[in-house]
Amino acid sequence: MFYGLDDIKSTIYIPCFMKIRIASLHNGTNYITEESSSGELGIEDESLKGQIKITGEIENQEKMLDVRLKVSLTGHFQCDKCAIEYEDIIDADLRCLVLFEDAESVEKAETEGLIYIGRNGIEADLTQEITDCLYCAMPIRKLCEPGCKGLCHKCGADLNNDNCECSLGAENQEM
Ligand SMILES: [Zn+2]
Ligand SMILES: [Zn+2]
Repeated sequence: MFYGLDDIKSTIYIPCFMKIRIASLHNGTNYITEESSSGELGIEDESLKGQIKITGEIENQEKMLDVRLKVSLTGHFQCDKCAIEYEDIIDADLRCLVLFEDAESVEKAETEGLIYIGRNGIEADLTQEITDCLYCAMPIRKLCEPGCKGLCHKCGADLNNDNCECSLGAENQEM
């Protein structure tokens, strides 16, 4: 991939996936492009195995980081209707704030989208946030294509490819 000169100057390489060293960020907007595998994030779900691409911005403000990332991965799924294996790109938006302070309470510490690293925190670990947003973006209903016709529930034929005899009758409409 080719990046323009301006991009090269402002793109931060994050050596330890996906921990951000605060000292490596400059003030203002930092552009992030990072690629890694789901294994490195500790994701064990079979459907989420593969390369993860992370792009976006981290705005380094005085007392916090405003993190806006796009996380994408090619997921491997099995269609709920016809059982075929298919791939689909999962795109997830990650927005969180990294605060250079200590959480005042357990409730605050557990607030979604907020990461407290303390006044002298040296790094922010986004691993959990990235993992969570990928899981949230997984399709609830897995379909190889929106109009998948599924399998005939009488003879098991894949109705996307075959017209079985049963489909001549009206009783074989979508389940
Ligand atoms: Zn299908
Ligand atoms: Zn049939």
